[in-house]
Parts: sequence; C-alpha cells; structure tokens
Amino acid sequence: MKIERTGPQSLKIFAPAKLNLFLEVLGKRTDGYHQLDTVMHSVDLYDILEIGTGEGDPQIETSGRGMGDPEENLALKAARLFKRSTGSRKGARIRLCKQIPVGAGLGGGSSDCAAVLLACNELAGRPLPQDRLRDMGAELGSDVPFFLHCGTAVCSGRGESVTTISGVPRLHFLIIYPGFSLSTGRVYRNLNLDLTEHKKKNTFMNVLLKNKQPEKINACLFNRLERPALETEPELGCAMKKAREMGFAALKVSGSGSSFYQCIEEQEVREVENKLFHIDSHWEGFLVASSLPLCR
Ligand code: C5P
Repeated sequence: MKIERTGPQSLKIFAPAKLNLFLEVLGKRTDGYHQLDTVMHSVDLYDILEIGTGEGDPQIETSGRGMGDPEENLALKAARLFKRSTGSRKGARIRLCKQIPVGAGLGGGSSDCAAVLLACNELAGRPLPQDRLRDMGAELGSDVPFFLHCGTAVCSGRGESVTTISGVPRLHFLIIYPGFSLSTGRVYRNLNLDLTEHKKKNTFMNVLLKNKQPEKINACLFNRLERPALETEPELGCAMKKAREMGFAALKVSGSGSSFYQCIEEQEVREVENKLFHIDSHWEGFLVASSLPLCR
C-alpha cells in the first residue's frame, strides 16, 4: 500500500493485489466461516484510489473494470463505517480506478477497503488507533486487516488475524486471469474437509525465507481451495491445462480463484512476456513483483 499526499485534503493510494502462497483450511466454524492458516503476499498490481473529503455522505466514482452494484462496493462501505464510527460531518469523495480483476482471488475489493480506512483516518488526523482500524476492517471482510499492513503475513482465524513476516525476498510472478470470476462463498461450499490431513506450513516458510529460486518456491505452494474452485467452475481446469501446455507447469489457484499464478525468475520476465502474446484472447496475463509493506 503506497499513500501519497496530493493536497491538504486529498490522498492518492496504490492498493495492491495479494496472492495466497499457502492456504490450509483447518475446519468449519460455528459462525459459518472457515478457520484458516494462510500466507498472504502483496504484489505490485494496483487499484488506484484518489480520496478527498467533502460535506455529507461518502460518494464513489469508479473507472477501469466493471464493478457491479456501487452500494455493494467495499470502499464505499468502508467510508460509511469510518464516518459512523468517528461521528464526523464530513464524508469521503472516492475516485477508484479498478485495475485488479474482480472475483479473481486477488483481494482487490479488500485492498480498496483497507485503503479507504487508512486514507479517511489519515485525512482526519489519525483519530483511530491501528487496532480499531483492524476491527473495522475485519467487520467488512476477512482479508481487509491484511491489507492494512501488506507485505507478507501469516493470517489465521477467518483470515483477519495477521502476523507480519519480514525477511521474505522480492519475488516475481506470472498471474493469469482467465476472463471469468468465481464466488468465494460458492467455492467454500464445495470444500469437503472429511478425512483431510492438515498440511503444515513449516516447510513452505523455510523455503520462502531462505530461497529466491522460483522452482523451490513453486514446489511448496499449496492451496486447499484449489480443488473446490476447479469443481465449482470446470472451465478453470481447462484454462490451467492450456496454460501448463504453454510451459507454465507450476500454476496454482490464488485464494478461491479464478486467477492462477506461479513464481518466475526475474531474468525470465521478458521471455514470459513474449509467451503472453499468444494466450487466449479472453485471458489477461500480469507480470508482477512483491510489493512493499505500508509506506507513507
Ligand atoms: O469475509 P468475506 O466477506 O471476504 O467472505 C466471503 C465469503 O467467503 C463468506 O461469506 C464465506 O462464505 C466465505 N469465507 C469462509 N471462511 C473464511 C473466509 C470466507 O467461509 N475464512
């Protein structure tokens, strides 16, 4: 997350996408959510938000990708929650340029939401402490608290309990969005945890902290939601098979899908870029690198 001041009452924020490099589901909770053990990693594919303040209710204008019902927009919900929580007469004016594919397991909506919470707090002179912003974020979506930090973190609970990790090398990835979205709720409903032995993240963490070699990292990527995502949308399996045949053999689904990714060598970026000219016309390929934790 990168925050730049553009005027006394306005900010520009680059809200990153995330990848789940490791995702295990430990069980179903009594509140209907699932207990997670996941490693989230932010990457430099950004939504861009310009946020200022005005009188009255928060308002949002969007451009870039289609977004659906603005009333369901998490960025707008965040601005409304901030206004209610602080009792402010002012409301945010948000311009959101959407670049992260929606419903793709890349966390774009959650990242926008965290960006608005941070921006509103910054513009108001930081009246709310970090743990209050975290609680407000968790109320709006399980992944939102991660985006208040970005970088790399182990996330547990339903995803909202965040422990940041330092010392992870800068990595490069290819992400492919296959041109359709997946509903997170539907993917979780197709998850069958019977007889499943939980995968531990120790080996993955050792490799992540000690290696920069993509093939070592790719060999340890893990996502318990991959199978239910493939069952929810068989097209996803066809797309991944096609991409593997193009030479991207280590692809993994991110989060609940629909996008999939693999780690690549920095020197490979040009070669991968050339291959992307030949991908299916409905697909989009993104070459990204790790993005830094929150910086102002
Ligand atoms: O928290 P969020 O609104 O992002 O979650 C979307 C949906 O994903 C939830 O309604 C729930 O069905 C599912 N989910 C889950 N367990 C989690 C996170 C999300 O079952 N830990």
